[in-house]
Amino acid sequence: MADFMIGDIRVTRVEESVHLTSRPQDRFIDFEPSQLEPLLQWLAPDFYSLADERMRSSIHTWVLRTPTQVILVDTCTGNHKDRPGFPNFHMLDTPYPQRLRAAGIEPEEVDVVFCTHLHVDHVGWNTRLADGRWVPTFPNARYLFSRGDFEHFDRAMSLPGTSQMTRNTFTDSVLPIVEAGQAVYVDDGEEIAKGLSLEAAPGHTPGQMCLNLRSGGRLACFCGDVLHHPLQVPLWHWRTRICTDPDQSRDSRRRMLEQCEQTGALLLPAHFIAPHGGYIEHRNDSFGILWPEAPGGTDPRHARR
Ligand SMILES: [Zn+2]
Repeated sequence: MADFMIGDIRVTRVEESVHLTSRPQDRFIDFEPSQLEPLLQWLAPDFYSLADERMRSSIHTWVLRTPTQVILVDTCTGNHKDRPGFPNFHMLDTPYPQRLRAAGIEPEEVDVVFCTHLHVDHVGWNTRLADGRWVPTFPNARYLFSRGDFEHFDRAMSLPGTSQMTRNTFTDSVLPIVEAGQAVYVDDGEEIAKGLSLEAAPGHTPGQMCLNLRSGGRLACFCGDVLHHPLQVPLWHWRTRICTDPDQSRDSRRRMLEQCEQTGALLLPAHFIAPHGGYIEHRNDSFGILWPEAPGGTDPRHARR
């Protein structure tokens, strides 16, 4: 799933990295091996490494080309950023800018950057290092930050318990955008372009928001980290240790899965390995996911027949 159409909006995935991440028992508060076991055959080898007992994760940007605008959803981790204690994020040197260019996007052409939330792996390429200073990577873009998340992390900067990584992220990837006058604070329900509207999905962070797309009778939901891994579709009730409010995050996840099931929206999270997104259906008193072979042409109602 690299490049496909939703109505008249072209959607492209630009990858920063793919890597092994946590073991499920370390990630999920409600981990229960007997619930995971029946899913392993489905998850391995693409989404889960049986040898390492670890989940696989992707970090990518969704690029949306509307007839009039270029919009980026989430900007990954960025290069040369000091992220103490997090080797997957620390001092990266990836060819992400070249990949954006290969997808046909010059930094100057980007009109809007939307960060679903302000975590380290969603704001990194907001800025790049130029002559020792962090400057906006996309000089002509409006950067849309959730007002709730901005206020949360801004407040966290003055709290003694805030981690160095969180401080560094806010300082090098969010504040330079504010200082450049390119930040715009957005709220639940706002329409950011024709057919593109924001929806609050709190819990992973207090102000996380999904971006809902509606075009030509098709729907898609860019849901950020409402869920991180495909196992959270059937096991939606498994709360994580990496959410600000795990209960609220679980409630947002359930609500979003219900909504995708009811509307037929293509779910496009921020961290799924290929095929990177799918359609939600009810299965065994919970949810299942249908992986589209060609998302531009596959309608979930066809897949079900
Ligand atoms: Zn993330």
